[in-house]
Amino acid sequence: MSGTAGGTGAGERRRSKAIPGATLAFIGGSGTLGLPFPESAGMDGVVVEASGLVWDTPFGESPPFKLIRFEGLAPAVLSCRMHGRRRGVDRGEASRQVFWVLREAGVKRIISEGGVGSANPLLDPGDLLLPTDYIDFSLRRAVHLAEDHLCIMRESICPEIHSILLRACEEEVRSNRGRSGSREGEGVPPLGRVFSRGVYVVTDGRHFESPAETAAFRQWGGDVVGMSLCPQVYLAREIGACYAHLCLIVNYGEGVVKPWEHRVLAGLFQEAAPAMARIVIRSLRELAAGEQDEGKPAPEEPAKGIKRDDGADVWEQTGEPKGEPAVETEEAVEAVAAGAAVQRRCACAGLRRETLLRDELADL
Ligand SMILES: [Zn+2]
Repeated sequence: MSGTAGGTGAGERRRSKAIPGATLAFIGGSGTLGLPFPESAGMDGVVVEASGLVWDTPFGESPPFKLIRFEGLAPAVLSCRMHGRRRGVDRGEASRQVFWVLREAGVKRIISEGGVGSANPLLDPGDLLLPTDYIDFSLRRAVHLAEDHLCIMRESICPEIHSILLRACEEEVRSNRGRSGSREGEGVPPLGRVFSRGVYVVTDGRHFESPAETAAFRQWGGDVVGMSLCPQVYLAREIGACYAHLCLIVNYGEGVVKPWEHRVLAGLFQEAAPAMARIVIRSLRELAAGEQDEGKPAPEEPAKGIKRDDGADVWEQTGEPKGEPAVETEEAVEAVAAGAAVQRRCACAGLRRETLLRDELADL
């Protein structure tokens, strides 16, 4: 950590009108909740430019964000925690607040993480899994920012961010194994193996699953069970951002291998936080470096696709910008332009959303 110059204290919240431009975002879950992020990573060259940033959104006040940058790299990261445990704010609303801010900032690539239970008996607490698909078993109503589109959920996890996360996980596990002070003696497993694919079953919580539910999820092809992936993955697609998720297995599902222990689960949340933070920081830094290397779009190739129609912002894959840009600061416009360039390169960029044709539907 090279410093926090310009930032506010961790507990301080400040309301800011302007949302800074940022092309990258990190949404923290239970895997990094145990300690302050990104400070817990203990890595050099990570600059927290501001913290406690709170904005009013159409869905209520946002959780506090941090603005992070890497030394020598221009792309900025907006970071927040989904597990705010804010009284009276459910996960759907919190997700809409977060993604509204990310859209206004021009975010085009998102990493998130969270703790999960196992449904696949091959998994153990301490293992890491990068999901490649999901089944949404949550009973919440549809969560979205606007109602004028259909999201295509083919290849919902960005293969490019996924592969960057995978390399970062493998590097962390390799370095962790050699570390002294293994937690095995305390009954808390060290980071285990890294699984590069799996199906994430999403539930509402807060209760855990029954043995029969876990068995059903396994029969469906589910590998892990958690509460984070949806609706994040829908909202990421809605704002036109690439998205990938990192899971830390913190407990066996009911009826899988053996009864889970609270001591192991709680220990992992605390003990794994620095390793999880290092994986995320390495990945974000690589994404930022990639964006910087590949440069901004040429001047004759302006950013396309963000427009604002009376507050109902719409992302379209192509088409000329209409109306005012969603974000108006110079930095933000640059960020949106850089994000648009990134999106054109990415393997999942072609799979975004189809805008509903209201007139055609009205004729049906
Ligand atoms: Zn992508």
